[in-house]
Amino acid sequence: MSLQISRQEALDLDAQDSLARKRDEFFIEEGTIYLDGNSLGPAPKAVFDSIDKTMREEWAKGLIRSHNTAGWFMLTDTLGDKIAHLLGAGDGELVVCDTTSLNVYKTLHAALSMRPDRKTIVAEGTSFPTNLYMTEGVTSTLKDVNVVLEGRDADRIEYLIDENTAVVMVNHVDYRSGVIRDLKALTELAHERGALVVVDLCHSAGVIPVDLHDLNVDFAVGCTYKYLNGGPGSPAYAYVAKRHHGKFTQPLSGWHGHAAPFKFEQNYRQGEGARALLCGTQHTLSMRALQSGLEVFDDVTIDELYVKGRSLSDFFVELVESFADEFGIGFYSPKDSSLRNGQVSLTRDEGGYAIVQALIARGVIGDFRQPNVMRFGFAPLYLRYVDIWDAANHLYEVMKADEWKEDRFNVVATVT
Ligand SMILES: *Cc1c(COP(=O)(O)O)cnc(C)c1O
Repeated sequence: MSLQISRQEALDLDAQDSLARKRDEFFIEEGTIYLDGNSLGPAPKAVFDSIDKTMREEWAKGLIRSHNTAGWFMLTDTLGDKIAHLLGAGDGELVVCDTTSLNVYKTLHAALSMRPDRKTIVAEGTSFPTNLYMTEGVTSTLKDVNVVLEGRDADRIEYLIDENTAVVMVNHVDYRSGVIRDLKALTELAHERGALVVVDLCHSAGVIPVDLHDLNVDFAVGCTYKYLNGGPGSPAYAYVAKRHHGKFTQPLSGWHGHAAPFKFEQNYRQGEGARALLCGTQHTLSMRALQSGLEVFDDVTIDELYVKGRSLSDFFVELVESFADEFGIGFYSPKDSSLRNGQVSLTRDEGGYAIVQALIARGVIGDFRQPNVMRFGFAPLYLRYVDIWDAANHLYEVMKADEWKEDRFNVVATVT
């Protein structure tokens, strides 16, 4: 026995957990403790029959008719509305499509099109890199637009927003630390200075409360394969506030974003509302998988999920704190769970990657991010307190026995 809190205490917490019933809706292999739902959510059990039916009935038998009869063509919107409701947005404000990267590209252009006299994009130097790479893509075609970064051009993003700022692009939650940004205050400031806001919700949607109307942001993007459990490669989404509908343009003007795709007109006419952010045909099978992921949320509120996620992560912090110093483990995330989503990142000068590998060999799946961050996500839909206890105990044992120093844990794979 190594930890100061007993395993029985964890089992007692599980017995009182009103969300415990949700775990059974996911396929989680015996012996796996999945702390990487912040990278790829696990499979909802309903997805197997749903995809099977989509293949055997809708595709094999329904053929092209299924675009209408099975609702394929409008899944971008029907699933979009479902996500919108999770995020405090309304019908017609959000579409499911493409990837987060592509949606960053489209929404940045959309915002720039609404502020033609302004030439600066403000972003975070610590942003998830694809958002910055896509910004480079924007500035490589719009030569007069430039980018300034928090952490490089000023300490705080607020100092960078001025009368030349067209758009401020931020992550609601930092992917490394899980830290939540005060988006409402930032949006208010950006608007006061005449700029628009694009927010990336990849690490907040489905795990902390998000109210897009209350936050008053202009555009939002996010992926669905993390906390929304949409499956590998499931499509992303893009939101545009109703007040901006019909008032922007974006360069990926494909036929699905057209006002009348099946009139086959020669010239582009922009579709209504968020549909103007669509480009071409979407991945129907992936959208069906996403549908199962979203249906899991039908009988829970994000508020109750948030409370449990925080509580799980508090439990982990408490357990790890009891031995962290002994093994040179530091907390990269703030210990105060009100400051972060349900994620706890640990750090260690040496061996971060190998420690994660050693844990994975024991069935505890987390991930590693450069330069020395060990990330553990605490998705409240399917994790139990006893999983958290076991995970902390495995970490203790890996450290105590120097297990992570074994050669096999020090070979770096392509995906970390
Ligand atoms: C996961 C993630 C992405 C992923 O982008 P894709 O284009 O969907 O691969 C983008 N931004 C953030 C903040 C993420 O966490």
